[in-house]
Amino acid sequence: MTLDENTELRELIRRIALLNAISYEGKAEVQPVLGKVLAERPHQKENVKQTASVVAEVVEEVNKLSLEQQRKIVQARWPEALVEEKVEEERGLPPLPNVDKYEEVVTRFAPNPDCVLHLGSARAIILCYKYADMYDGLFYLRFEDTDPRLKRSALQFYDLIREDLRWLDCEWDGEFIQSDRLPIYYEHAERILTDGNAYVCTCRPDEFRDKVLAKEPCACRDLTPDENLVRWERMLDGTYKEGEGVVRVKTDLNHPNPAVRDWPALRIIDPQQHPHPRVGNKYRVWPLYNFACGIDDHFMGVSHIIRGKEHLTNQRRQEYLYKHFGWKYPEAIHYGRLKIKGAALSKSKIVEGIRIGTFRDWDDPRLATFAALRRRGITPEAIRRLIVDIGPKTADVVLSWKNLYAHNRKIIDPIANRHFFVHDPIRLNAERIPQAFSVRIPLHPDQPERGFRHFKIEPKEGKASLWVSSDDLKIFEKGAKIRLMELFNFKVQSVGEALIEAVFHSRSYEEARRFGAPLIHWIPVDTGIPCEVVMPDASVMKGVAEDACKKLRLDEAIQFERFGFVRVDSLDEKLTVYFAHR
Ligand SMILES: [Zn+2]
Repeated sequence: MTLDENTELRELIRRIALLNAISYEGKAEVQPVLGKVLAERPHQKENVKQTASVVAEVVEEVNKLSLEQQRKIVQARWPEALVEEKVEEERGLPPLPNVDKYEEVVTRFAPNPDCVLHLGSARAIILCYKYADMYDGLFYLRFEDTDPRLKRSALQFYDLIREDLRWLDCEWDGEFIQSDRLPIYYEHAERILTDGNAYVCTCRPDEFRDKVLAKEPCACRDLTPDENLVRWERMLDGTYKEGEGVVRVKTDLNHPNPAVRDWPALRIIDPQQHPHPRVGNKYRVWPLYNFACGIDDHFMGVSHIIRGKEHLTNQRRQEYLYKHFGWKYPEAIHYGRLKIKGAALSKSKIVEGIRIGTFRDWDDPRLATFAALRRRGITPEAIRRLIVDIGPKTADVVLSWKNLYAHNRKIIDPIANRHFFVHDPIRLNAERIPQAFSVRIPLHPDQPERGFRHFKIEPKEGKASLWVSSDDLKIFEKGAKIRLMELFNFKVQSVGEALIEAVFHSRSYEEARRFGAPLIHWIPVDTGIPCEVVMPDASVMKGVAEDACKKLRLDEAIQFERFGFVRVDSLDEKLTVYFAHR
């Protein structure tokens, strides 16, 4: 390398080290700096050692400077680099429209408590929460439980939903339950009837449908407000039975979408047949979605409605309501559908599956409920990162499990201890072992300070037995040389159904590399703890986990080497874990 090249390389390293230091409170680290240097100068890979030592030198120099000094140097010499870094940091959600028109950004997540939440709700929750947070605004939780007949809520779900939100770290600033708010809806029903902007329709549904498809008013539409109020009273006092009267909001009968024309706002549900889980048979007239939601958004001061584009028609309906009341419709952001491959996502399928016993519970690993993801060791942070990546774009998105797992792996890889789990164990008898072995393997390869797992092999007359996994049977051929990770290398003598016979070959890893020997994991026979791994398809993989697993903590994320990341679910005489991903 010429002197010039040398100086040039040193300058490059200095720039990268300074930027790394600025991003990490003044302390650069050798590995990430070296990584970036090699990315920019791939040919340096030929002399990595030399480059690494220069990087180490420069990093040391840089770390002696204060953060302030580091910043000044970068600003003076590479100001464009600072801008770049900033953009990278702020890449997240695009800004909300028309924020300055509102005193405060207010968003809401409004689930129906008729099921637990699943990944399909993540977008609504996280976008609403993040935007409120971004603008120092308010994020509300609103339970929409006004359909005790078809979308009947159940008491357990109010709490399960709260639990899910807390788990996602989306704490809400206020909570509303629609079944507590019937007086507000009644008051506004009377007001809109009095104003002549709604009517009580007593037509048979098919009669009304024919009229509305023909863009014609039904006979009820021209009743006077007083006549309507009399009918309203009949809805409330039980004169009209279920299905005999419905409050309709007047719209444009020529609206291109027939579903928008004079939409239903309140209807009767027989309180004896369909009592409400929270308020029992107290009410017989219940608001429909658009009426309750529209009124609530207004009174809660919601500035930005963030929801799926399947709600666009609802916006068209609610805009009539807002016009009648003289209110201003909030900003509405409609994002595309989120499709998730290979998961039972629809509420009805989940509820039905649980009812008939296809799924064990709300956290059955086959489901994409938050409860199931939690149990498998998927972190809320991974879900948040995934959703922020997707953002509020209007195109439909197919959510990939691979991306979710990649985010989760990044989060748990640095914190998960490593252990051996031998699936479907088969005995390996090794002979001619020249000595006893006492090996220690780090709990985490990059963090020796975490400590070690210890294994002892004490051969009797040169013989010892180990469990290895039947999954590795394909590499056991007579004569094959294989390395037991961190232990020794052996040569296969014979492969039987329940036994592999082998002889000690050599000790060192270098030797194994020379032969290109595959590395496998192992557990000494007579040690370890029985272990079951519950897989995402609800199947169970049985085997033995190493001794150190007897001291795992519940909920801990660990990595079974050569197997995958799992979450500790229960631990007594047997260890049960749930599989997260590879
Ligand atoms: Zn009618």
